[in-house]
Amino acid sequence: MKKIFLILLLLVQNLLLAQKTHIFCGNLLDVQSGKFQPKKTIIVEANKILSVQDGYVAPKNSKDISLDLKTKYVLPGLIDMHVHIENEFGPTTRLDSYILDEADIAFNSVGFAKTTLLKGFTTVRDLGGTGVNISIKKAINQGKIPGPRVFTAGKALASTGGHADPTNGSKRILIGNPGPKEGVVNSVSDAKKAVRQRYKNGADCIKITATGGVLSVAKSGDNPQFTIEEVKAICDMAKDYGMHVAAHAHGDEGMQRAVIGGVKTIEHGTYMSEATMDLMKKHDAYLVPTITAGKEVEEKARVKGYYPDIVVPKALAVGPQIQGTFAKAYKRGVGIAFGTDAGVFKHGNNAKEFGYMVEAGMPPIETIQAATITNAKILKMENEIGQLKGGFFADIIAVNENPIKNIKTIENVVFVMKNGVVYKKD
Ligand SMILES: [Zn+2]
Repeated sequence: MKKIFLILLLLVQNLLLAQKTHIFCGNLLDVQSGKFQPKKTIIVEANKILSVQDGYVAPKNSKDISLDLKTKYVLPGLIDMHVHIENEFGPTTRLDSYILDEADIAFNSVGFAKTTLLKGFTTVRDLGGTGVNISIKKAINQGKIPGPRVFTAGKALASTGGHADPTNGSKRILIGNPGPKEGVVNSVSDAKKAVRQRYKNGADCIKITATGGVLSVAKSGDNPQFTIEEVKAICDMAKDYGMHVAAHAHGDEGMQRAVIGGVKTIEHGTYMSEATMDLMKKHDAYLVPTITAGKEVEEKARVKGYYPDIVVPKALAVGPQIQGTFAKAYKRGVGIAFGTDAGVFKHGNNAKEFGYMVEAGMPPIETIQAATITNAKILKMENEIGQLKGGFFADIIAVNENPIKNIKTIENVVFVMKNGVVYKKD
């Protein structure tokens, strides 16, 4: 009897011992110092990194496994601060907004989420859709579908006729009178209601369209679209609920109001003046460049019929400006986050942004630091994601070449682990 009890006890003990994965890394990036370190072993248990050890440390327990990345360059999973996980822009986008049901959008986005993850982006901030994005986040977190960890703004906030007013350019009978619930605010009290509504719906952050935008069916791409009081009300209210605010902005006036009002990130920043750059430094706000989207809209605007006529001149003006403004802002010392606006272009092409940032004068290692430690800090997850260290989530990717020498290699990620689960291994 005693013997059986002992055997049972041993069996239970063995079952309780979680399986560990030892990852042999030929070169492992210490993101903070910006240096690759040779021959390291990352030990992963469940969804976390247990420790990082010198040399190749073989597993001791029979049920532990090892993964060989001895010829690879290993980095923390990448973070994109600006995606639209629900959709991918194309010539039928306007029509789609009238014929697709939420279920159709959900099925489409399953593929977008998977593609994003397999390209090495283990975390994204989703800056606006119909609200299906909140369900996508839940489905991913519950392990129902593969995808990156999602922080979402739900439905973005605009003023009437503003960039994110969902009824712009529509037939009068379809317009109705959208209000704070639908993301249209026109007063301080609307602003407060809209933020609280998003909190209730399950959003993690707030997105506002502080100026006109390129792809909305509206005339101006850069006029200011919120009063400073409205921006302040949104930011103050968001703070109460532990959320930060991201502001889409092309024009300088709207951008200034957004920064003074308290937003954390300026998206695009196209016509940013030097005065606004200095204001951003003072207020500890970050620029999310989205150069890839700028390049894409300029290219597609030259394809006849791709965008509605009213969009074309805006795309041709704004697109080419973005990279140049980023170069100036970086030089002037504005904090740079990494974000692409994927969804405006094909999901999965997010990593092109690295090359464009390097082309504009940012050293490769700093672009990687932006996409890891800086973005993690903005998401208040700097002790959980963005580095390969004990206690961090096991979000680990690998590439074939040293990305500090050849940044383009980051467009071809060969290994992806998120939360300790391997999603890709070439
Ligand atoms: Zn966007």
